Amino acid sequence: MKAAVLTIGDELLNGQTIDTNSAWIGQELNKIGITLVSKLSVGDTDNDIRAGLEYCYQHASLVIVTGGLGPTNDDITKQSLATFFDCDLAFSQVTYDRILAYFKASNRQPTDAHRQQCYLPSKAELVTNERGTAPGMWMNKGRKFLLSMPGVPSEMKGLMLNGGLEKIAALNPDQQIHHHIIQTVGVGETYIAEKIKDIVARFPDYISIAYLPGLGSVKLRLTAIGPDKNLLIAKNESFGKKIADLLGDPVYATGAKTLQQTVGEIAKNSKLTIGTAESCTGGHIAQLIASVPGASSYYKGSVVAYSNDIKENILNVSSETLKEEGAVCEST
Ligand code: AMP
Ligand code: MG
Repeated sequence: MKAAVLTIGDELLNGQTIDTNSAWIGQELNKIGITLVSKLSVGDTDNDIRAGLEYCYQHASLVIVTGGLGPTNDDITKQSLATFFDCDLAFSQVTYDRILAYFKASNRQPTDAHRQQCYLPSKAELVTNERGTAPGMWMNKGRKFLLSMPGVPSEMKGLMLNGGLEKIAALNPDQQIHHHIIQTVGVGETYIAEKIKDIVARFPDYISIAYLPGLGSVKLRLTAIGPDKNLLIAKNESFGKKIADLLGDPVYATGAKTLQQTVGEIAKNSKLTIGTAESCTGGHIAQLIASVPGASSYYKGSVVAYSNDIKENILNVSSETLKEEGAVCEST
């Protein structure tokens, strides 16, 4: 199934806000086997929103819309949706009751704008937004579907994770998806691709591989798509194991684990403690290690030895080494 994302808001066009919603949505759809074929940003005008909806509807059978659902009158998405889907705006008492409860809990009063926010396209099926006032809206024209959500990233994510993605996945019941992740560090993606090319050549056509490089690391993601989930898991994991065995040392984990979590687990299991000394990284390694919950049980601390003075006097790097080989070298 092909999807398109339409993000709405003047702030996305004038550069005040970077559109992070579409990237997140693209990743989540990809995980359930839905390909994003287009993403489009438009301003808060009815003409542009409807032109955007037309474009997305032409190119995809699922359209995800974010933005323009706030209580202020610059947010007009729901009027444009009503026109596009050829229906009226109707007052949603359920939504108003939820807004009243939401405000009561924080001892505040809703304004008239919040009441206006409850006029929603009559053809929309509402998807509860647990993190804000504007609900999500699920609509369809024939076999083409649309999900409209608020632009606030945390609300959009909450809506997708609590109902939205489930509705989307249900459109495609025969399409199961399984991902197998292999985490590597210290080697580049071209090295890895060359090394494992014979295994990749033997993949069945329903398995694909993605190389996702980060700073000093490469994540390999094997994706299997098909009707039989058990087969997907078995094949994906067996190819994953072949790849991990062949790569050897650079593989530090499988699954969504980070390098710092893995380091922490090794320290805990081996009853080791960790101390770090850093220079150019300015404490970044310390920050990563300390970001793991429970790190205090194995992490002692760090010296950020930026100047030669600190390298010599606190870390005992000899002045000869610093003079002869420099501050940035293996011996130092
Ligand atoms: P709205 O639903 O249009 O009222 O959007 C509320 C706020 O969410 C905006 O002021 C932006 O800060 C943020 N926002 C809207 N769209 C996006 C987007 N595509 N990516 C990231 N943030 C967004
Ligand atoms: Mg807006």
